[in-house]
Amino acid sequence: MADAALPVIVLSDPDPIRRHETAELVQSWYRTSFRVLQVGGPAETVRALKALADRKVPVAAVLADEAPEPGGAHPGVRWLPLARRSDDASAAGEHPAEHLRVALDDSLCTWNADSRGDLPTAEVRGSRFSPAAYAVRDFLGRSGVIFRWLPEEDARDAPVTVRLGDGTELTDPSISELAERLGLIRPAGQDHYDVAVIGGGPGGLSAAVYAAAEGMSVVVIEDDAPGGQAGSTSRIENYLGFPVGLTGGDLAQRALQQARRARVEWQPTRVASRVAPTGTGDHSVEFVKAGTEEASSVTAAAVVVATGVDWNRLTAPGVDRLLNSGVYYGSCLSDAPSTAGEDVYMVGAGNSAGQAALYFARYARSVTLLVRGTDLGASMSSYLVQRIERTPGLRVLLGTEVAECLGGDTLTGLRLRERDGGERTVGAHCLYVLIGGRPSTEWLGGALKLDERGYVLTGSGGAGPEALPMETSVPGVFAVGDVRSGSVKRVGAAVGEGAAVAQSLVEYRRRHPDRFRDARAACGF
Ligand SMILES: Cc1cc2nc3c(=O)[nH]c(=O)nc-3n(C[C@H](O)[C@H](O)[C@H](O)COP(=O)(O)OP(=O)(O)OC[C@H]3O[C@@H](n4cnc5c(N)ncnc54)[C@H](O)[C@@H]3O)c2cc1C
Repeated sequence: MADAALPVIVLSDPDPIRRHETAELVQSWYRTSFRVLQVGGPAETVRALKALADRKVPVAAVLADEAPEPGGAHPGVRWLPLARRSDDASAAGEHPAEHLRVALDDSLCTWNADSRGDLPTAEVRGSRFSPAAYAVRDFLGRSGVIFRWLPEEDARDAPVTVRLGDGTELTDPSISELAERLGLIRPAGQDHYDVAVIGGGPGGLSAAVYAAAEGMSVVVIEDDAPGGQAGSTSRIENYLGFPVGLTGGDLAQRALQQARRARVEWQPTRVASRVAPTGTGDHSVEFVKAGTEEASSVTAAAVVVATGVDWNRLTAPGVDRLLNSGVYYGSCLSDAPSTAGEDVYMVGAGNSAGQAALYFARYARSVTLLVRGTDLGASMSSYLVQRIERTPGLRVLLGTEVAECLGGDTLTGLRLRERDGGERTVGAHCLYVLIGGRPSTEWLGGALKLDERGYVLTGSGGAGPEALPMETSVPGVFAVGDVRSGSVKRVGAAVGEGAAVAQSLVEYRRRHPDRFRDARAACGF
């Protein structure tokens, strides 16, 4: 759809810098569905609404500090108060418009149902402590789908229902079914590609975009939603070119949009299970639909493994039983508003734990960060440590670990153990575990050489001195990002490796031109 044909979200703010910043963020959430129109204040809002009504352009919402004149402009216009940057928010490094997301999602769902009904939206009902409901919400949020979450007081195994924008109701859908029904996935267009990238985090999407720009046909096989670990973070502050930072979801959606523009084929909710040489110089990549046993495969001249890292597991009793029913690995940001009035615990001492704690502290009654060591600054950037110290309702318990998770169907408390062996029990509604990662390489089943910690060896450590940069022990199979042995665990580093591996792919194609059958692949740039 051409931008001009998209329905409009009017953003009214007399401060041009703040307005531009907020517009960029809101646009990034709804890039493919809405156009953000910036106006300078109440009078200009009225004029803009009249002009849009004359041109019959639908207006989905008006974001402004003051409500537009009643009935004066656009019929049935929905107004949402624009969040102001308070001193507190600014000190905590919050974005002025970040918390608008939940309110806007809700309002846009209603608008879509009342008017157009053609956007991929969803309404999710289920128990807040249902693991299945958590998986659905996490997937929708990270896929950029506008959705409304309606928690119910049911038992955790009550069915999860998802009502789509067109009225279809799905009960206990798998994420692959959701992806298909919401149009997020299309059947693979071909069975052979120049490059198959496994993993749609920053490293994989970067490799895909740069390889496509070199005229290669590319498929990305991702087991979940775009963005990888970065996709779940509330704020990335050190990524070049975004001086006020950006959310992981924003980065993921931007990267995916760029990949699609470059004609990369995007296959989410597909779990790679095997990479093997075909015997003709190509490689076969096997994968299954997430949540099903349905298997498929593609072949490719070259493969880029970008499967990153997964969370380390907590071994305390009760963790596995209460997983996704109060105990979570990582942090599902869309859950934060529903922790209002609750006591949230987090385990971890890295930047990811710090960022999540700051984000949840804006909603929960209290957030407690449990740190096994005695110095938070030893593993967390000092700017985060300082913000944590300044944030009311957020406390840090040093030298403390989880001895047991308590509760029947859902988490109700934690038994904490201190360094001196002392123990105490606290009431807790949720526990988020963010204790670093382990490489996602088990699925490779020994196909590639790994280092002693399970990361993929590349270059001279992989195939030997003849290997191309980032080539693994199997010629034609490359690895980038966090999964690669010796990698720097940063978004910028993963993106850089994705760009660099494209040069190895170009050299590999020069050596084996016959294997790259898709010279016709046209990049959309
Ligand atoms: C909460 C959090 C906050 C962070 N904040 C920052 C920050 O502020 N700045 C910064 O520079 N870095 C940050 N990082 C680190 C950064 O996110 C990672 O370094 C980066 O995402 C690595 O990218 P990647 O593509 O290599 O791997 P990942 O991001 O891990 O992506 C790998 C992808 O592969 C998929 N996958 C795994 N196995 C399979 C399979 N078998 N089949 C198909 N797909 C598979 C995964 O689902 C995932 O989507 C943060 C990390 C976390 C967890």
